[in-house]
Amino acid sequence: MTKIDKTEQQWRQELSPEQYHVLREKGTERPFTGEYDHLFEPGTYRCAGCGAELFVSDAKYDSGCGWPAFYAPAGEEAVEEETDVSYGMMRTEVTCANCGGHLGHVFPDGPHPTGLRYCINSASLKFDEE
Ligand SMILES: [Zn+2]
Repeated sequence: MTKIDKTEQQWRQELSPEQYHVLREKGTERPFTGEYDHLFEPGTYRCAGCGAELFVSDAKYDSGCGWPAFYAPAGEEAVEEETDVSYGMMRTEVTCANCGGHLGHVFPDGPHPTGLRYCINSASLKFDEE
C-alpha cells in the first residue's frame, strides 16, 4: 500500500525518462554514471518521485560498487523491502514507502553498524543540500 496513486501517464509526464525507467520500470542506471555516486556533501536524499526523505548523508559511504550506497535508510518507515527473484538472482528490492517507486537493492555486505548496503540509483534520488 502506497500513499500516492498516480497513473503511469502522470508519472511519465512528471519524471525524466531516466527517472521514469528506474522508479516505475525498476530499471538500473549504469554503474559509475550516477549523479550522486561520489557526492559526500551533508544533506538529505529525497525520493525523485515524491520528495519523501529516504536517506541522509551521514549513512552514505563509498562502497566502490558504482552506485550511491548507504548503510541505513533515513527512518524505519522510509523504505519498503521485498524479495526480488528477477534475473535468476535472489535479491531484496528497496522501494519508496510513500510512492512505491523502485530505488535499488539492499545487500548484507555493508559496514558497521548495520552490516547492510543499500545500493540505490542516483536517478531515483534528489539531493537536498544542508
Ligand atoms: Zn517516493
